[in-house]
Amino acid sequence: MKITAIECFVLLVPDYRADACSSAQDNLVVKIHTDEGLVGIGETDTNPWVAKAMIEAPGTHIMGLGLKEMLIGADPTDVEGLWERMYRGSAMTGRRGLGICAMGALDMALWDLKGKAENKPCWQLLGGAVNTITPYASLLPDGNTLEEYTKVLVHRAVEAKRLGFKAAKLEICIKGPYSHNSLQIPDDREIARIVRACREAVGPSMTLMVDVAYCWQDWKEALRAIEMFAEDDIYFIETPLPSDDYEGYAKLVKASAVRVAAGEWLNSRFEFLELMDRDALDVVQPDVGRVGGLTEARRVALHARDRGIVVVPHCWKSAIGIAASAHLAAIAPTCSYIEFLPHGLSDSRLRRELVPDELPVVDGVIPLPTKPGLGITVSDAALKAFKVA
Ligand SMILES: [Mg+2]
Repeated sequence: MKITAIECFVLLVPDYRADACSSAQDNLVVKIHTDEGLVGIGETDTNPWVAKAMIEAPGTHIMGLGLKEMLIGADPTDVEGLWERMYRGSAMTGRRGLGICAMGALDMALWDLKGKAENKPCWQLLGGAVNTITPYASLLPDGNTLEEYTKVLVHRAVEAKRLGFKAAKLEICIKGPYSHNSLQIPDDREIARIVRACREAVGPSMTLMVDVAYCWQDWKEALRAIEMFAEDDIYFIETPLPSDDYEGYAKLVKASAVRVAAGEWLNSRFEFLELMDRDALDVVQPDVGRVGGLTEARRVALHARDRGIVVVPHCWKSAIGIAASAHLAAIAPTCSYIEFLPHGLSDSRLRRELVPDELPVVDGVIPLPTKPGLGITVSDAALKAFKVA
């Protein structure tokens, strides 16, 4: 079998808001075609126009090659060999950042293809299932005022519980550089009040996580705020500090009673190792597309296992990435939950319409997928309707 073509779809919802913090408004979806008619599907969560260019641009010398040109004509079932080829061949331009995100979409599609070729679900190709796949509902409220934001978040938490989720994450993005709809609420007691309102609404049995999206400037500010809601039994606090503040993360992990989680933006296992080897994270959150695909996400998960670190994959795009996270969770011994934005609770039409047959949640868990590859299909009507480039 040989790769014959690679299609990139830049997708965008028509009503997108540039001041929103949700990246579920756009997507880069790739389809890898073969001479046997099989097609693999992948996605990645970064600027979709630039990722498309990263895949399609030609190269001019042997460590500045184009990703697409390295794959055309290759055997798609040699997935890890192709990962090394792409990583080395694009090293001058890629190696980290967007180059790895673009490789991630392709690697995801290659595993999907290999599964379809061998009639096996991805988890089986990746080493076999050792773990239950438990999704947590990832809840980003809408609202332009603190009152609206709180009300919608409480409502969605109750809704997630009603839908059978065992866990939910509260996106409390109301200050700092990544705040939602330009909200800027400086008083951290408001964050604690929202956490308390949600905890009271769902009761003590549901696991709750909190994501504050890089809102605090240093670890002492973060610690002071976290202590305000520590007694509300929070499973982890996500991205409390700027991404590159490795020392701050290490100090916060030591001082905080609540687990500290990060990693959604990290590219390649090397960036995760940098943090894990400093004891700077309690929970690692590889995003399968951004970290470099299932090949690299598995490596991160196994490094985490060897260090006794919890894995909770990040995923904010569509049911393509959620399926990839689910296969990863099945083979990752320390993966406790995967991020899952229920389509019924998403404001994004793309999230709701792109994948008609997403993996089901039954009694709060995702049953081990049985279909070949990732086990999902993509709606051609949605690809056509949302395609802008
Ligand atoms: Mg986040």
